[in-house]
Amino acid sequence: MSVSYCIKHKKKHDSPKWRYTTGWFCVDKVNRYEWIPDSVKDSRKVNAKDIIQPWREGQASKEFIEAYPQQADKFFSKEEKKGAKEVWR
Ligand SMILES: [Zn+2]
Repeated sequence: MSVSYCIKHKKKHDSPKWRYTTGWFCVDKVNRYEWIPDSVKDSRKVNAKDIIQPWREGQASKEFIEAYPQQADKFFSKEEKKGAKEVWR
């Protein structure tokens, strides 16, 4: 456990896992930030930049929910889906 300032919750707290983008934020699910759709996992032509990530700086991505509605349920809580914003445009 370590205590850091969490940009997702905008306060200091401890978490077993931290990720860093422009600041530290907690993650409560393994690999939730780095996600590759099954449909492109095996393709060598895929440009990683074209894959929409579910999170950006702790903000849930509306684009991700629109692109992968079924997977979105696994990544986000209801509240997070409600608060999702277009973060990649
Ligand atoms: Zn947090």
